[in-house]
Amino acid sequence: MNDGAETLARIELEAQEGDVNAQLDAAIAYMSDNSPGSAAKAIYWIRKVFLTNSDRTTPTLIVQANKTSLEVRGKTLALARSGEPLVDMLLRTSKCQTCGDTSTDKTLIGLEGVKFYRTVWDFIAWALLSSSSVQPSDQKCDLCGAPLEMQFVDYHHFVKESGEDLIVRSLTFGFDPHKRYSLLWFDGKDYRVVSQEDIRDEDKVDADYFIRSINGYTAAGNFEDAEAAAKLALQQFGGDPKLLTVVNGLLAGNKISVCESIIDGHLEQRPGDPAGLFCKAELLLQKFRVGKPAAIELVKEADLLVNRALSTSGRKDWQEAELMRCDIARLSGDSSAEKVETLYEEVVSKFPNFAAARFGSGLFYLENDPEKAINQFIAGESLSAGDPMFALGQAQAYLKLKKLDQARSAIERAKQLSPTHPMLPMLEDELAKAR
Ligand SMILES: [Zn+2]
Repeated sequence: MNDGAETLARIELEAQEGDVNAQLDAAIAYMSDNSPGSAAKAIYWIRKVFLTNSDRTTPTLIVQANKTSLEVRGKTLALARSGEPLVDMLLRTSKCQTCGDTSTDKTLIGLEGVKFYRTVWDFIAWALLSSSSVQPSDQKCDLCGAPLEMQFVDYHHFVKESGEDLIVRSLTFGFDPHKRYSLLWFDGKDYRVVSQEDIRDEDKVDADYFIRSINGYTAAGNFEDAEAAAKLALQQFGGDPKLLTVVNGLLAGNKISVCESIIDGHLEQRPGDPAGLFCKAELLLQKFRVGKPAAIELVKEADLLVNRALSTSGRKDWQEAELMRCDIARLSGDSSAEKVETLYEEVVSKFPNFAAARFGSGLFYLENDPEKAINQFIAGESLSAGDPMFALGQAQAYLKLKKLDQARSAIERAKQLSPTHPMLPMLEDELAKAR
C-alpha cells in the first residue's frame, strides 16, 4: 500500500467513526485523489454530510453577505434566467478586523481543473475542494487600511431548472478541524438552506451546462477558456448532438482542432448526419480562410459535404446550407461570375429576409458591380440593424464609386454600432486619401 492509499484508508476509517467534520475531510481527500473509485467515495461522503446526517445543520448556515456580493451575482443571475450564458463564480467575503467593514471579491471558475462534473454531487464535491484551497485576501481595508480576515467563500453554480444559484458556502479554511460548510440557494436577493427534497440523485450537471459556459466565454471573446471547457465537454459528452451548437462560436476564435474533435465525435455516432456534415463543411471553409497557402481542395471537399447534407436532409428551407453553396462557388474560382451571381440571386429571392445571404451576395458584387453591392448591403442593414458589417460593406462600395459623402455617412453608422471595429481606421484612411 502506498502512502496516499494508506492516508485515504485512515481518513475513511475516521469518517466512518467520526462526525461531520471527519466526513467532510474524507470527501475532500477523495476529491483530491485521482483514482477512479475515489470520485464515488467523495460523493458518498458529501451526500452523508449534506443530506443524510441528522446533524447536517452545521452551525451558522446563513451569514449576512456583503451588499456588493449580492449585487454582483444578482445581476448576472437575472441575465442567466433570460438565457444568457453564465459561468461558475467564487465570491470571497472578508471583514476588517479593526473597523468591521466587509468587502467582496470574485473569481470566475475556470473549468480546466474539473476532473468530473456530471451531477450536482460532482459540483458540490468540486466546490468543496475549490473553497478549501482559497487563500485569504492580501488586500487591506478600504476604510482604515487594517488587514482583512476571510469570513466565508461562496461557490456559485447556476441551476437552470430552478433558475437559482446553488451555493456551497465555506466558513472555515485550511486545516481548521471544525469545518463549517453550508448548502444554500440564492434567488438573486436572499439565501435559503437547501433541503433534502431540493436535490435528487438524478439531477444532472448536463451538457447544457458546458454549452452555456462555452457560449459565455466565446461571447466575451475569451476563446482560451472556451476551448478548455469544450475539451472537457468532449470528454464527458462527446457525441452529444447539442455540442455541435458551440462549433460556430469556437470557429470565430479559430479553435479548429477542438471543433474537429466535436464534429468527428458527432459523425462517428451518426454517420452521414446532415447537421454534422454541414458543420464539417463550415470547418473546412474556416481552414481554407486561415490556411497559408490557401488549399483549394478544402473548398472542394466542403462542396461535397454540403451537397450531401442538403440532399440527405431533404430540407427545402435550409438557408445556411444553400448560402454555403454560393460562398463555395465564389471561393473556389471554378465558376464563372455569371454562374455565381445566379446562385446568389436564387438564394436571395428564395430567402429574402436572410441577412447573411444579403451579406454574401454583397461581397460578391463588391468585386463585380458596386451599385448592386450597395443594394444588397442596404437590404441587409434593414434586416439586421445591429450588425456593423452592412454599413462597412456600403462604405467600401461607395468608395469604389467615389461617392464620398455616402461613404462617410456609412462609416459614421458603422462607428456608432462598433466604435473600435478593426476595419474603421482603414476605411477612414481611404476616405481621407480620396478627397
Ligand atoms: Zn477597516
